[in-house]
Amino acid sequence: MYYQSTRNPKQVVSASQAILQGLAPDGGLYVPQSFPQFDLNWDQLKDYSYQEMAEFILSPFLDDYSPEALRACIDAAYDDKFDDPKIAPLAKVGDRYHLELFHGATIAFKDMALSILPHLMTQAAAINHNDKEIIILTATSGDTGKAAMAGFADVPSTKIAVFYPEGGVSDIQEKQMLTQKGANTYVYAVKGNFDDAQTQVKALFNDPDLRQKLADQGAQFSSANSMNIGRLLPQVVYYFYAYAQLVKAGAITAGEKIDFTVPTGNFGNILAAYYGQRCGLPVNHLLCASNDNKVLYDFFQTGTYNRKRDFKLTISPSMDILVSSNFERMLYHALGDNSDHLTALMAQLDQDGLYQVTAEEFQAFQGISGEFASEDETKDEIKQVFEANDYLMDPHTAVASRSYRKYLDQVEGAKAGVIVSTASPYKFPATVLQAIGQDADQASISERLAKLRELSGVPYPQAIEELEAADIRDKIILSIDQMEAEVLKIVKD
Ligand SMILES: *Cc1c(COP(=O)(O)O)cnc(C)c1O
Repeated sequence: MYYQSTRNPKQVVSASQAILQGLAPDGGLYVPQSFPQFDLNWDQLKDYSYQEMAEFILSPFLDDYSPEALRACIDAAYDDKFDDPKIAPLAKVGDRYHLELFHGATIAFKDMALSILPHLMTQAAAINHNDKEIIILTATSGDTGKAAMAGFADVPSTKIAVFYPEGGVSDIQEKQMLTQKGANTYVYAVKGNFDDAQTQVKALFNDPDLRQKLADQGAQFSSANSMNIGRLLPQVVYYFYAYAQLVKAGAITAGEKIDFTVPTGNFGNILAAYYGQRCGLPVNHLLCASNDNKVLYDFFQTGTYNRKRDFKLTISPSMDILVSSNFERMLYHALGDNSDHLTALMAQLDQDGLYQVTAEEFQAFQGISGEFASEDETKDEIKQVFEANDYLMDPHTAVASRSYRKYLDQVEGAKAGVIVSTASPYKFPATVLQAIGQDADQASISERLAKLRELSGVPYPQAIEELEAADIRDKIILSIDQMEAEVLKIVKD
């Protein structure tokens, strides 16, 4: 199995090399040259543990890892850092199913991939006899940062620097990052929004002078953002696992097609569902759910991707994104793996802020569409579902839940529907309490958490208990153009 850059078919590398590099040197993203076709015997798969399913799905994708090495990565990642032995349990909520991806160390779905990525990366360095120190640069809209710091903390031969938008993440998210332990972890608030931070991280990555300065000091960059294929592939696993759980519960028969609705930001999570479908997972429809930053919804309506609009800060901050990095991969596949055309469209997006696909190309997006939920709809959804089902959702999950509701109003013949549930409500206590009519304005973080526990009856996840006790480091605020100097300081540190 080989991976090639979306922007140059001649840039071809192995799985381990793709994971080490993060981004291709031409600025493109690595994509698999073909999709393995799995022999899906659901009668057997339904009894697989999460770890067994991970081995089954990841083996053909990571074929330059030995079976023992891969199994070691899986076992190190999916252990008791997760507070549910199923790792990604399915909850029945009314007549839908919620695939709960928030049982890891930071109570959001980034843990699913970021608990295994550091192991895949150090293993990749061993496979390639690479003895450089790996410097991870990560822009975060809130959740990736903490999950990446937790994943890489104290992993030998690695350092990680995280940049988040100042004022653009929740109190809890910021506190989670500022309390992270690990001498190899660095975190900065950046004056700008997420797109500003992400654009600068990409620019640092692709700066040949900076790369050389790092190489001179025995270091190299890699990325823990979902541009890294090592983030994406582990996410394919849970779509198969969810399907197997539905078969096991008797909710569907083997082979029956189902819908997935994914609350979307950088388009990594939903792309993993699409990759699952390309590998034979029986999917009826993929619904890409957006908040008020609904660039993707507009694309799926019109075939025009237009980032020229106001950036809105919403109550689902991890989805506040106008340039969804992984959409480049989706577009590449939809264009029939045409690098030249893809590169031209990406250049247009850079220069003009928009691009448009032809009517014929737009046809290739059948089977996937967009919906969105406004701020009021999102809060109303949290309330409705809590009142009807006694189940509390975080705002990101609520965007997906409302979007699927809106989608079903427009189509005939509903299928079994899985809502991909990306964060614990404990991560956004103020918003959730307000949505269900509790006045929490004056309350401290601790008081809000206690109130949520009382209302939901769900015990505190370990991450919340630790947060209450941990020491907070000093907050460092940078302007965008101070980021490069700071990175060089870290390399010397
Ligand atoms: C990151 C994140 C998303 C968006 O996922 P993408 O893979 O970037 O599309 C949605 N919800 C939560 C809680 C997240 O942390």
